[in-house]
Amino acid sequence: MCLFCKIVNGDVPAKVVLSNDHVLAFHDVNPVAPTHVLVIPKEHIASLHDVTAAHAAVLGELLLAGQKVAEQLALGTTGYRLVMNTGKDAGQSVFHVHLHVLGGRPMAWPPG
Ligand code: AMP
Repeated sequence: MCLFCKIVNGDVPAKVVLSNDHVLAFHDVNPVAPTHVLVIPKEHIASLHDVTAAHAAVLGELLLAGQKVAEQLALGTTGYRLVMNTGKDAGQSVFHVHLHVLGGRPMAWPPG
């Protein structure tokens, strides 16, 4: 079972921010911004590149949860960045789809 599935099951602890039937949001263990939360589907999907039209609803749930997390953690006014690293060149290290919610400081563009 993958690391994030173990977090969903409760086998690995996490600081949960939001949970519903479809998604779980928790603080990243190695934050790269003052606020750094991961939003994951409770269903195992390895990467964005593995999704099909059948996953459209859960992808929408991820984005909605990202917005809710940002509101809950007071990023609504200052702004935030949502990132989904996909595959090797993007630096994906955990192969269970996750949306990074980053905020609390200005973000550079283009990303590194
Ligand atoms: P990515 O590199 O886009 O695949 O992102 C994976 C993220 O998972 C990284 O930001 C890690 O810091 C984070 N991470 C790894 N293990 C854990 C964990 N046990 N709890 C919370 N976040 C984790």
